[in-house]
Amino acid sequence: MEELKIRCSNCGKMIPYAGNVCPYCNADKQQDKSKQGKMFLIIMAVFILLIIYIIS
Ligand SMILES: [Zn+2]
Repeated sequence: MEELKIRCSNCGKMIPYAGNVCPYCNADKQQDKSKQGKMFLIIMAVFILLIIYIIS
């Protein structure tokens, strides 16, 4: 499984989800994690609902 990545809002690079700071610019990424992690969950929820809708 591919590692989950998020975009650093400080330097714009794609960085791994794990860890507390950006490995490139050392910026705190707690906010990026909560923001983009929530977005990921919403997309997954919509996708699952769509599949349930299609097969029902
Ligand atoms: Zn960064």
